[in-house]
Amino acid sequence: MRGNLIIISAPSGTGKTTILKELFSQTEGITFSVSHTTRAPRAGETDGVDYHFTSKDVFKKMCTADEFIEWAEVHGNFYGTSKKEVNKHLDQGVDVFLDIDVQGARQVRKKIEKECFSIFIVPPSWEEQEKRLRGRGTDSDETIKLRLANARKEMADADLYDFMIINDTVNRAASVLRAIVIAERCRNRRDAEGKPLLLPSSTPLPPQNKE
Ligand code: ADP
Ligand code: 5GP
Repeated sequence: MRGNLIIISAPSGTGKTTILKELFSQTEGITFSVSHTTRAPRAGETDGVDYHFTSKDVFKKMCTADEFIEWAEVHGNFYGTSKKEVNKHLDQGVDVFLDIDVQGARQVRKKIEKECFSIFIVPPSWEEQEKRLRGRGTDSDETIKLRLANARKEMADADLYDFMIINDTVNRAASVLRAIVIAERCRNRRDAEGKPLLLPSSTPLPPQNKE
């Protein structure tokens, strides 16, 4: 039985990576699709784990060869999701998270709306989001300004998503996310760990004593 394909998006700095990390530490049978990007690695990021860090030339070649389910330019860099990578996990019955922006989410929905579901994470306020983005300490002031401006635009797509979660506290947001993942597994007749449900045997019950 194939796994579920789960799109997850959030304005930059909302805390999506943090919540996903928490979810992954508590949940069996899920993985990320590792995207390709032309962005430079941040401190602590590993090639092949956080992203496949790719030159613009290679990225263009992959687009031409139709190797991406979706791709987009986000905050001045290119990002794309490889079809091969996603199908490999889904075929093994594993749920796959696509951590992609609103443009990518639109493309995936357009192609395979019935084969995926989508979740949008929002910050409790814009002030808190800016604080988180600055507090993360990974981006220059110029990048932060660009990400904040894009965040307002991305919110316009929030209603296109199946589910919305406010990241007020990491624990609360991660447990709501986990509840959604498990509920969608039950819809597909899988258990909380993601394995196919073992239904009771169809052997008829023994005849009842008539006395
Ligand atoms: P995103 O992946 O959405 O860009 P991150 O997960 O990198 O965001 O989080 C941005 C910053 O906000 C990080 O420093 C993280 O520790 C912090 N953060 C995430 N969630 C919360 C929360 N609920 N409350 C306070 N800080 C948070
Ligand atoms: P970051 O540079 O902070 O890792 O990611 C910036 C944005 O790019 C985030 O909103 C993230 O969801 C998005 N992103 C990451 N990978 C992909 C991808 O493969 N496709 C698209 N469309 N967006 C992506």
